[in-house]
Amino acid sequence: MKIHRIPVLSDNYIFVLHNLDQNIAAVVDPAEASPVLRYVEALGAELVAIFNTHHHGDHVGGNARLLHQFPAAIVYGGAADRGRIPGQQVFLQEGDRVSFGDRVAEVFFVPGHTRAHIAYYFAPLQPDQLGDLFCGDTLFAGGCGRLFEGTPAQMVESLGKLRSLPDSTRIWCAHEYTLKNLQFACAVDRHNLDLQSRYAEVEAQRRQAEPTIPSLLGVEKLTNPFLRWDAPAVQQAMQSADAVQTFARLRGKKDVW
Ligand code: ZN
Ligand code: FE
Repeated sequence: MKIHRIPVLSDNYIFVLHNLDQNIAAVVDPAEASPVLRYVEALGAELVAIFNTHHHGDHVGGNARLLHQFPAAIVYGGAADRGRIPGQQVFLQEGDRVSFGDRVAEVFFVPGHTRAHIAYYFAPLQPDQLGDLFCGDTLFAGGCGRLFEGTPAQMVESLGKLRSLPDSTRIWCAHEYTLKNLQFACAVDRHNLDLQSRYAEVEAQRRQAEPTIPSLLGVEKLTNPFLRWDAPAVQQAMQSADAVQTFARLRGKKDVW
């Protein structure tokens, strides 16, 4: 499975999955249809699936037109998003499995950003390969999504599920927010050397207008404060000894930062 990244709108990424043997494609969170149609046409592939993580317009905006061009494509989304995702046909819950070509994704229910948000995890086929997590607006490189429809406790539980995946998991999140996220991270986790070197790296990448996505979960666990609610340094910075309260304070600070 090849994964192609298409930058769209101001800072969104759409991901096109391509199975070369069967020459089929799938798309994750198509904010818009045109760039996906161009891409799939250039591949000469047939679009067979649309994987949505949640109902926001910058994730489902292309659904209707893509379905119009590829009427046989199947639209997947969270069960609790029923009625909010254009063309949705499959209503997924925690632990469900969806397949694409020779790969199978496990579905995680990860409410917090929205109440119906899900993530798709493609485990690697071989133990020496990387896994792939499509997590929409739940986990970002260096940050996490805003809590529009969920509570801090829910988000900690959701991020906790993602955090327990292998360190070698690639994080395909839906926005290029990494530099700003890491600026905030450096302000709250001030003595984290892994974070400081990551910041320097990302700054150089962005100066060249290079994408910072995917990132690696192992790196996120060391440097993303929103996965570090139980790290002593982060708890101390938030003046709390409680995981959920630490996370809530972090999120609250970032909201007004
Ligand atoms: Zn969103
Ligand atoms: Fe978004």
